[in-house]
Amino acid sequence: MDYSAAFQAAVDTVRSEGRYRVFANLKRKNGDFPRATWAKEDGTEQDVVVWCSNDYLGQGQNPVVLEAMHTAIDETGSGSGGTRNISGTTWYHNELEAELADLHGKEAALVFTSGYVANDATLSTLYKVLPGLIIFSDAFNHNSMITGIRNGGGQKHVYRHNDLEHLEELLKAAPVNAPKLIAFESVYSMDGDISDIAGTIALAKKYSALTYIDEVHAVGLYGERGAGVAERDGVMDQIDIIEGTLGKAFGMMGGYVAGSAAFVDAMRLWAPGFIFTTSLPPTVMAGATASVRYLKEHNERRVAHQERAQTLMRRFRECGIPVLPSVSHIVPVLVGDAKHCKMISDMLLNDFGIYVQPINYPTVPKGTERLRFTPSPDHDDAMMDALVEAMDKLWAHCNVARMPAVA
Ligand SMILES: *Cc1c(COP(=O)(O)O)cnc(C)c1O
Repeated sequence: MDYSAAFQAAVDTVRSEGRYRVFANLKRKNGDFPRATWAKEDGTEQDVVVWCSNDYLGQGQNPVVLEAMHTAIDETGSGSGGTRNISGTTWYHNELEAELADLHGKEAALVFTSGYVANDATLSTLYKVLPGLIIFSDAFNHNSMITGIRNGGGQKHVYRHNDLEHLEELLKAAPVNAPKLIAFESVYSMDGDISDIAGTIALAKKYSALTYIDEVHAVGLYGERGAGVAERDGVMDQIDIIEGTLGKAFGMMGGYVAGSAAFVDAMRLWAPGFIFTTSLPPTVMAGATASVRYLKEHNERRVAHQERAQTLMRRFRECGIPVLPSVSHIVPVLVGDAKHCKMISDMLLNDFGIYVQPINYPTVPKGTERLRFTPSPDHDDAMMDALVEAMDKLWAHCNVARMPAVA
C-alpha cells in the first residue's frame, strides 16, 4: 500500500472541490482588538482587522481577565498537574464551577477541556446512565453533539431543523415509558437563527423528556447576566441541562455542563472524556471565572454587540449584499460556491486588510458556502465603512448574485 499516495489523494479531493483550507497565520494585538498582524507566506506582514472571531466581545484581551491569569500563574505555576481525580482539582476549578452553576441558576456545573468534549462526553455518557434512552436531535446540531450521540451508541431520532411539529411526531411515536432527551442549540452559529426554546420545553414536559441545550454561541451574549438565550427568554429554570463554552464569548478555553447536582455527579463519575484527561490549567480557570463575573455585570457590552450586528446587516442589505436572515449577532453572507467564497475572502485579506474566513462544506451544506461576519462592540464605524465598501466592490468584480437593494 502506498500510504503517502493515499494521503495525497485525500488532500487532492478536497482541493479539486475548491475547499482546501489555508489557515491564516495571525498574531492578535493585545489592547488593539479586533486588530491583528497577519504573517504572509512570503515572509512579510500585514495589519488586518479580524471580522470572524468567536471572541465576540474581546474578552480574550480584557485586562480584568489577564490580571486574573497573571495572578494565578504567580500563585500556582502552569499546569494543573493531573486529572481531576488525581491531584488535578484546584481551588480555581471549584471556584469556576460554582460561578457557572450560579450563572445558570443550577445546582452544579462541571468543566471539560472544551465545549466539543463537553458535548461528546455528556451525550454519550447519558446513554450509559439512562439505559434505553432515546435522544431527539435537531438536524442542524453541531458536530460535537452528533458525535456524542453516535458514540453513545443508543437510539436516536433526528428532527428537521427547528421543526417542533416534526419533533412532536417523533416523540409521540416513541414508547411512552422510555427515557427521552431533546438535544438542541439556542443560537445556530452558521445561519444565526435561534430556536424556540419555550416551545421545545413544552413538548419535553408533555412527553416527559429531558432538555439539553447547547448555548455555546449565546453564553456571555444574551440575557441580563449573560447566561444565554434561555435566560433572555425567561425559561432557564425549565431547562434540565445547559452546555456552554469558555472559548467563545468568554475569551478563554474549556467547556461545561450545568444542571442538577445528581446529574453533574453522575457525569463526574461516569464520563470518560471528563475522567481520563489532564484538567485545564489554573490560569485558564482563573481567567474564565474573571470573564464570567465581568460579563454578568456588564450588560452594556451585550447591548453594544447587538447594535453592531444589526448595523452591519442593515448596511450590507442597503447595497444588496445577500445577508441570510439572522436574528442574532451572526452576520452570514451567502456566496453559494466554494471557489468564489475563497476568492472573495482572499481578496478581502490581500487587498483590503480584512480577514473573514470562507465557510464551506462540511461546516455548511454544499451550495450554501458563505462568509460569516461577527462584529464585536469594538468594530467601529470606520472599520465598518471600509468593510462595506470593499464588499460592494468585490461583489461587482466577482459578479456574485445580489439581493434587491433595501432602502
Ligand atoms: C464551537 C462549538 C462547540 C465546541 O465548543 P469548543 O469550546 O470550541 O470546543 C460546541 N457547540 C457548538 C454549537 C459550537 O459552535
